[in-house]
Amino acid sequence: MLNLTIDRTSPVPLYRQIMERLRELIEAGTLPAGFQLPPERKLAEELGINRSTVLAAYRGLKEQGLLDAHVGRGTVVTATVGRPPADGPVPWAHLFAEASLSAHDPVLRDLLELTERHDVISLAAGVPAPELLPVETLRRLFDEVVEEVGPAVLQYCPTEGHSPLRESLSRWLASRGIQCSAEQVLVLSGSQQGLDLAARTFVDPGDVVVVEEPSYVAALQVFRTARARLIGVPVDEDGLRVDLLASVLKRHRPKLIYTLPTFQNPSGAVMPLERRKALLELAGRHGVPVLEDDPYSELRYDGEPVPSLRALDREGIVLYLSTASKVLFPGMRLGFLVAPEPVVRRFALLKQGMDLHSNSVGQFVLDRFIRAGLYDPYLAGLRKAYGRRRDLMDAALGECAVPGLQWRRPLGGFYVWCRLPRTVERGRLLTAAADAGVAYLPGRTCFVEEPEGVYARLSFSYPPEETLREGVLRFARSVIEAGGRGTTVNRTAVGTRPIV
Ligand code: PMP
Repeated sequence: MLNLTIDRTSPVPLYRQIMERLRELIEAGTLPAGFQLPPERKLAEELGINRSTVLAAYRGLKEQGLLDAHVGRGTVVTATVGRPPADGPVPWAHLFAEASLSAHDPVLRDLLELTERHDVISLAAGVPAPELLPVETLRRLFDEVVEEVGPAVLQYCPTEGHSPLRESLSRWLASRGIQCSAEQVLVLSGSQQGLDLAARTFVDPGDVVVVEEPSYVAALQVFRTARARLIGVPVDEDGLRVDLLASVLKRHRPKLIYTLPTFQNPSGAVMPLERRKALLELAGRHGVPVLEDDPYSELRYDGEPVPSLRALDREGIVLYLSTASKVLFPGMRLGFLVAPEPVVRRFALLKQGMDLHSNSVGQFVLDRFIRAGLYDPYLAGLRKAYGRRRDLMDAALGECAVPGLQWRRPLGGFYVWCRLPRTVERGRLLTAAADAGVAYLPGRTCFVEEPEGVYARLSFSYPPEETLREGVLRFARSVIEAGGRGTTVNRTAVGTRPIV
């Protein structure tokens, strides 16, 4: 018996708690090199948790070089941390800061490996379709910028961003109902950097951040790394349940509310106008800043746009994040924040320590793209193309008719959020999908607490149309293999086509 204690009320995931406890025992020498740990199943029973949680903890410690698996001997302690042999390899695992581990999710690591396999159709990644990226236009704009601007395109630029780009972004934002000065715009190295800066600016360890459940997985990781206490508020078909928020704000006094009101990642939900107003009223009353993450609102395939929270904000309480990644070019790493000037200044100070500024050449090119009026016609083409893919995925899911599989056709964005039949076992689904050659994002990664259902996020943005249907059919077959009862999927039609 190891007598490990875990805290089910802690925001720290259980597998990480187990890792930390075991690490402490190894560091203290209580578990010496060669010590044989209990089999995963036994420890899982002892602690009353899933075997996969213990598996994840053991795997994490193996990666740190503290454990090893031996055929016939099970999992054993390999290293005695704290007393590395003087002439041995550098004990990196011992040197890493503990906080550097919180962003690590073994499920996501495995997923990344899986999507790199050539025979796998990826419905996991929310990335633009390669064939829709504006390669030719970009080549021309690069040439023009280098020709006209000369060496300045290769120079350092202000941390806040290339001034002409900040101006063109503020004009472009005005056309989307967001009134702001160029000084209120901060150019970022992707909106992901904005999430990190928000966490560094507002969150001290233990501070509460309200997040939607489910939410954007990499934002949860950022807040966890900042040691925030995450309080999840559920999302329904109209986005964040603002009716549940009031008591959370009263009870927990959070530092930040993180929300994705338009084409929510992963659920696809859009918050209607009235709920947006109610959210702003509530946040204003409690004086809690709202971090609005809006990468997808431009990618609307049906219906009328709803104004962003920032466009409705009268109190100056919304910090608005968006990005060039979904519509134009993720590899350029350009996003932006719109916020009151004191916030922009504080973010810029921190950003300076991270990367001095975002890439100059890209900022010149993006500025030119907007000023030349190329954005709207390009976006119109994208909406058609992604709208077709959305329809194709929706139709393929309908065709498979897996009993108990529920989803809604999103009005925009990149994702279809599926609720899977209750009988599906998560672990088996991961294996079945890998065997079938399809990758999806396991829904559990998008939650703070263990969700009571089984979910999956399917992205329709990346695979070409011919492959997309096949990807969905493979996924449906995996669901059935993982315990979903269903016989209606035409098995001969599933998985028999080559990937093209
Ligand atoms: N927020 C959300 C909701 C996202 O989906 C993404 C990309 N997956 C990002 C932020 C980060 O995008 P980027 O850093 O490329 O701008």
